[in-house]
Amino acid sequence: MLTVNQARIVIVGGGIAGCSVAYHLAKLGITDVLLLEQGKLTSGTTWHAAGLVGQMRPNRSMTQMSKYGIELYATLEAETGLATGWKQCGSVNVAKTPERMQVLRKQLAMARAFGVECHEISPAEALEKYPILRIDDLQGALWLPGDGKANPADLCMSLAKGARNRGVKIVEDIEVTGVLSENGRVTGVRTAQGDVKCETLVNCGGQWARQFGALAGVNVPLFSAEHFYIVTGQIPGVHPMLPVMRDPDGFIYYKEEVGGLVMGGFEPKAKPWKVDPIPGSFQFQLLDEDWDQFEILMNNAMHRTPCLQTAEVKMLLNGPESFTPDGNFILGEAPELRNYFVCAGFNSAGIANSGGAGRLMAEWIAGGEPSTDVWEVDIRRFAPFTGNRKALAERTGETLGLHYAMRWPRQELETARPLRTSPLYDLLAAKGAEFGSKNGWERANYFRPEGATRPDHTLATPGWLPWMIEEQRATREAVAIYDQTSFSKLLLQGNDALAVLQRLCANEMDVALNRMVYTPMLNERGGIESDLTVMRLAADRFLIITGSAQATRDADWIHRHITAGEHAFLTDVSPMYCVFGVMGPNARELLARVSPDDLSPQGLKFSWTKEVDLGLARVRAARMSYVGGPGFELYVPVEMARHVYLALCEAGADLSLRDAGYYALDALRIEQGRRAWGAELGPDESPWEAGLAFSVKLDKATPFIGREALRASQGQPLRKKLVTLLLPPDVYAWGGETIMMNGQPVGEISSVGYSPLAGACVALGYVRGACANEPHAGTPAQIKLWGQDHAVTLHDRWPPV
Ligand SMILES: Cc1cc2nc3c(=O)[nH]c(=O)nc-3n(C[C@H](O)[C@H](O)[C@H](O)COP(=O)(O)OP(=O)(O)OC[C@H]3O[C@@H](n4cnc5c(N)ncnc54)[C@H](O)[C@@H]3O)c2cc1C
Repeated sequence: MLTVNQARIVIVGGGIAGCSVAYHLAKLGITDVLLLEQGKLTSGTTWHAAGLVGQMRPNRSMTQMSKYGIELYATLEAETGLATGWKQCGSVNVAKTPERMQVLRKQLAMARAFGVECHEISPAEALEKYPILRIDDLQGALWLPGDGKANPADLCMSLAKGARNRGVKIVEDIEVTGVLSENGRVTGVRTAQGDVKCETLVNCGGQWARQFGALAGVNVPLFSAEHFYIVTGQIPGVHPMLPVMRDPDGFIYYKEEVGGLVMGGFEPKAKPWKVDPIPGSFQFQLLDEDWDQFEILMNNAMHRTPCLQTAEVKMLLNGPESFTPDGNFILGEAPELRNYFVCAGFNSAGIANSGGAGRLMAEWIAGGEPSTDVWEVDIRRFAPFTGNRKALAERTGETLGLHYAMRWPRQELETARPLRTSPLYDLLAAKGAEFGSKNGWERANYFRPEGATRPDHTLATPGWLPWMIEEQRATREAVAIYDQTSFSKLLLQGNDALAVLQRLCANEMDVALNRMVYTPMLNERGGIESDLTVMRLAADRFLIITGSAQATRDADWIHRHITAGEHAFLTDVSPMYCVFGVMGPNARELLARVSPDDLSPQGLKFSWTKEVDLGLARVRAARMSYVGGPGFELYVPVEMARHVYLALCEAGADLSLRDAGYYALDALRIEQGRRAWGAELGPDESPWEAGLAFSVKLDKATPFIGREALRASQGQPLRKKLVTLLLPPDVYAWGGETIMMNGQPVGEISSVGYSPLAGACVALGYVRGACANEPHAGTPAQIKLWGQDHAVTLHDRWPPV
């Protein structure tokens, strides 16, 4: 029964996510919190989870989040008095193929670098830890003693009790049917028992979060899939401290329960649950058994643990769980509505991650900003089109299966494509373009020569390397054209546009007309929220160019910093302009053949733009190069793009003009030390650490966000420093590798690409601690690549000038 009509924060959903957010808000001293659950606590998805709890996530900040969750689960029972079923039984992850073993060894190096205890063990040692295992076809395994398991429903109730003990109100059997808002801000929620006023709303609606989000126009792109495990009767040798076991090559996992096994997994082709909308009455319910769908998992499990061939199977549980288009969960304040937060879409890892995610959310709500880099799970990585339900259903069939499938470097998702295409798409496809997808945009990765077959995925040197090298050579020695239409483009206009940019950008933005400025946008901690190239088109008009994946995020950051009454208006004009990079020593000659305008170094200086004739079109030419070396970016109205491209191709035939793709672009920018947001740059990196001091004007007249933090840290020892690494000529790396010195991890590679200039791979990466405060001009170090050590050198500046 609802007895209150006001709370500072309303949480919708009483699964593990909602209870964890409530618990952590209360722990921060925010107790005027009301949690509303349409059924009973845990009755959505939480009650039927298997309860595996692992610590490793693909990056440092997310692993810290998961590790914290485990620390919490280990102590919660002592705090609340309610059992959680937590058992630190450890986990064994086995590898069947040599490539899987290489991937596990990479995880081992990352685990050590992130402070997670992890050991490589032999098949025989795996058998000792997991006596029902078949090992004759195994390469080896990892042992993580800190992993464990919990009883999901008990854990959730324990978090709820911890929240209640601190003053949070939890009311069951109340469906929230609407969201109230004024002036773009949440003001309350609607229920059948009356409205409740609130300042902040947290959507923890699990698989209902998308349809609940839609009530307020908030995009929460997730979709349910049927998800299965079996529960067996007792099996000899299976005891409560038997570790959790994962066999990703068989797509399966195991956990002990009451002397038997829970065995489930992630079948390669999953089954979306196409119920729309999901009824609110779906509480403590399951879906029908589907042995055909489960067959592949069952067969693999009977192979891996032969005891299952004769074990009693008590039930095949089929419970829906929500999955997202990229397999990561969804946290943060929605860009559509202020003070509307989302914590949902846990992709079958909500038990393991809700502890940490709840704390992150509470800190975000309390502090107005996340306390760490959460880009991987940030709701603003999703543009509005990602809410399309057909695309979500298709993609869910794929992403569930990818949880355990072998993920190859640069492997692209295949479903819900192609969607966003440049007008050149068909032309480039006919020339052999192999496309990848970023934020829905199809982009040529490389061009496959006629008659050549598409190379297989590999962990070693990729088959497309020689073709990419030809594209790189054209860029350095002749001229190459890159279709960079996917760039995000935001137009900021108005009398106060300059004032807004001055406040948000660390560089000086009050520049001459047609000037371009490269600048970071910082948070209060001095971390890099984005890096932008801004063109001043008029006194009150700026075109902001940012990364393909960042349109929603950057637009949100700018919007939220335009204060009431300021005359500044931001429009996403990304789909209005194509961008062609025309790069290389012949670029000027090529443009001179199609444009009567002066594009000489005097006619268009570096970092300036101007409108020019090109063929029959008018385009904006910018002297600017992400790949390094001479070149131009052309901003072309979409409807003229085909004409401009064909005019360039015709004029460039005898200049060795070549189409080039994103693999070449990325490798060349790494060779030139150009940073990329999301790889080298992010909210946890400062311009000092990233080597971007040249783009910061601490003494410009207008104070900017992050200035005080930068002043405070200027001249202080660095926590980490970006360096260039030169790899041996025969070694091909992919990114994410651990950097080692004297046998200890000191950092990790953020980006890597082959450099024709070096005749080897060149990488960018951060080193930490003492190593960050020493000069590097060839310092010897090692990287761990798929478990093998390789000698590398570290350089503060490369190529040397
Ligand atoms: C078969 C299976 C096995 C799994 N195994 C594991 C595992 O081993 N380890 C792991 O980490 N995870 C596992 N999971 C995933 C885990 O169960 C989920 O990620 C987690 O429970 C999600 O929690 P939640 O709070 O987001 O969602 P839920 O538990 O579904 O909670 C959302 C709640 O919101 C309520 N709600 C929705 N709309 C409204 C509204 N309008 N008004 C009021 N209330 C509303 C719902 O009633 C529901 O109770 C598994 C999932 C399945 C299906």
